[in-house]
Amino acid sequence: MKTESKVIYNCEQQLKSKGSPVIIVAAVHEAEAVANACAEKNIIVSGICDSEKRKSEKPFNGLKVYHTPDLPKNFPQARFIIASQHVQECADQLIDLGYNEFYSPLELLKDYDVNKYKHRISSTYMRSRLDVCKKSHEYYFDDSKTYMRSLDVMITTKCSLKCRNCSNLMQYYTDPKNTSLEKINSALDVLHKNVDYISEFRVIGGEPLMNKDWANVVNSISAKNSDAKIFIYTNATISPKEEHLESLQGKNVNFTITDYGNLSRNIDKMTERLNKYNITFDRQLADDWIDCSNIKHHKRSSEELKEVFKQCCVKYIYTLLHGKLYRCPFIANAANLNAIPDNPANYVNLLTNSDNIRQQIRRLVKVAKFFPACDFCDGRPYDPSSKLGYDGRGMIAAGEQVSNPIPFKEYK
Ligand code: SF4
Ligand code: SF4
Repeated sequence: MKTESKVIYNCEQQLKSKGSPVIIVAAVHEAEAVANACAEKNIIVSGICDSEKRKSEKPFNGLKVYHTPDLPKNFPQARFIIASQHVQECADQLIDLGYNEFYSPLELLKDYDVNKYKHRISSTYMRSRLDVCKKSHEYYFDDSKTYMRSLDVMITTKCSLKCRNCSNLMQYYTDPKNTSLEKINSALDVLHKNVDYISEFRVIGGEPLMNKDWANVVNSISAKNSDAKIFIYTNATISPKEEHLESLQGKNVNFTITDYGNLSRNIDKMTERLNKYNITFDRQLADDWIDCSNIKHHKRSSEELKEVFKQCCVKYIYTLLHGKLYRCPFIANAANLNAIPDNPANYVNLLTNSDNIRQQIRRLVKVAKFFPACDFCDGRPYDPSSKLGYDGRGMIAAGEQVSNPIPFKEYK
């Protein structure tokens, strides 16, 4: 058990009783279920807060959404239910704003019946989101375990699109490659033995369907992690083969489709086939992105680096690429491209015969300050309108294409 949990487990009685306004953090899919559970239990919710300013432009589930930095103007005091899976980060951000009362929604969601409501996403997808959210909160309360909320299994650096501002840095690759099934399986086996639990596997690229073994990778993850959720992130340029989809039926597998308009040329065929094989998917328009794909040596001070890392919204997006484990996709790809100096502090090589691999993984998972690679990143803050720990251009149009790879400085 965490000795100094900032977040309280038992919440129902406290939140029912009179006190300062109750706010849900953040406007994520799971917040809808938390809001419904609060209504069932007569807990009055005054609003939702979110670090992304654009989410405050419209209500969420009938509740007003507040941009998190604006909260103190509206609520000098408040009690917070953290619906986000990023428990610690949410609490830390609100502590910086002067708040001190935080609750986990675990108790509220214990008996939540997904089928009772019509959510903004399908019931199956909501069930998957809630399972991951609950596991994240359970492991938050048990610090002795090495837990990954989410692991990006990057199975290829090939992409059928070349987005100028791809946050996974695909636009820099001149010689993109698939990772072999054997190598992916060997690395996943090492993780399986040395990590207590991984809630969610995100099979990504580039475009994962560029790797002809994508369905074998998914089936292999599913076989070894029967209750983990698997999400395949695709740009819908390639229609999956029917036999591949057939092999995924009845498993915890979901597709997350980014809709790039005309560029997603197979989106109708893909969704039709997913429906045919009863495979859950979520389809979202490629919205505005946060500019975060520039690679530059900033030469920041240690204090500045701590701030960049603290504000970063992807610092728990553990990424597996070509047998190495990284803390985020930027570090994974910048290192793989040799766009940053090689520094073993940035990764764990899972395919060496080291006898302390468990400790190495735990160190990578638990690092709370920053990585050397963060000095080459503009930062990826929740709130790009604030300049705190961010040197990028803010919000940019999604999906703009380049015809040739973008040059960069290579470290030999
Ligand atoms: S579709 Fe665009 S954003 Fe997605 S991986 Fe490919 S290049 Fe990157
Ligand atoms: S700040 Fe660090 S952890 Fe965050 S995206 Fe950049 S390199 Fe990754």
